[in-house]
Amino acid sequence: MSLRVEDLKIYYCMKRGECKAVEDISFNIEKGDSVGLVGESGCGKSTVAFSILRMLPFPGEIMDGKILLDNEDLVTLSEEQMRRYRWTKISMVFQGAMNALNPIIRVKDQITEAIRTHNPSISKSEALKSARELFKLVGMDPNRINNYPFEFSGGMKQRAMIVMALACNPKFLIADEPTTALDVTVQAQIMELLKKLVNDLGITLMLITHDLSVVAETCKKVIIMYAGKIVESGSVKEIFAQPLHPYSQGLIASIPSIEKSSNQSLASIPGSPPNLLKPPTGCRFHPRCEYSQEVCRTEDPQIEELKKDHFVACHLSSGRIASEKYNQVIQKVKL
Ligand code: SF4
Repeated sequence: MSLRVEDLKIYYCMKRGECKAVEDISFNIEKGDSVGLVGESGCGKSTVAFSILRMLPFPGEIMDGKILLDNEDLVTLSEEQMRRYRWTKISMVFQGAMNALNPIIRVKDQITEAIRTHNPSISKSEALKSARELFKLVGMDPNRINNYPFEFSGGMKQRAMIVMALACNPKFLIADEPTTALDVTVQAQIMELLKKLVNDLGITLMLITHDLSVVAETCKKVIIMYAGKIVESGSVKEIFAQPLHPYSQGLIASIPSIEKSSNQSLASIPGSPPNLLKPPTGCRFHPRCEYSQEVCRTEDPQIEELKKDHFVACHLSSGRIASEKYNQVIQKVKL
């Protein structure tokens, strides 16, 4: 399944004002793609995921834009129509697998209930059979399906949550920080599993994470968000080889490298994310950007395709302003 998001705007309307969580973002995910949506906490990536499933928590509201799943605009569907899309066509692995399963109900009952709720014609034994098959697919002993969640390790709970998300055979999967609270070895196993699912089942994957290195391992494309806006998008290969937006450059520079000497300190991005009740004028990144100039404070840079399928929103990358230091950084990356 393919997904096209056009000019999506999502606000949280509160007494204190409108929190502009997502502002005019557009992107494309082709059938069979694996795309990472990356950014700091609060940049709007989970809000985008929840809006695709039309499960935005109160007081979140889609103010404008389209979410086209195979050309069907999900924004215009009624709740009843949307219910037929969720889990059967588009599904989600939620953050915090450790607490997502009901601890006092056997895992098999939780998974078969999800299958039968969306496909009432399936018998209990057929639902159990397909849940056991999915257990095998994610590398678990099917007999463990009879256990309670407290009998599972963290990695097993996350695999069970992936089974739950796949239970109704969706073709589009959103995984929201699927490795939070798991140790690094289990993290690697879960990411390998997601990669396998994309390849073997032909699932289209949208992976939400704050960790660019996870995206590099799992996805073909990456979309980088900052303060509710997309600042850069393109192929993982291209963006890791030559990030053009200063925020992307900062994120990539802050990934620990085994090639750097051990006494070399890690780079970091100064400051903290802005308050989206009152976002900065012009480029939202300007208070933290070392290259910021007058135009950055007054004019919001539009996203432009600077190379084939490589989009950037920055006055500097587009050549509107210049910086010797930025040119040197870009030149260094090229070499
Ligand atoms: Fe920095 Fe200006 Fe580019 Fe924003 S537009 S990222 S402030 S150089």
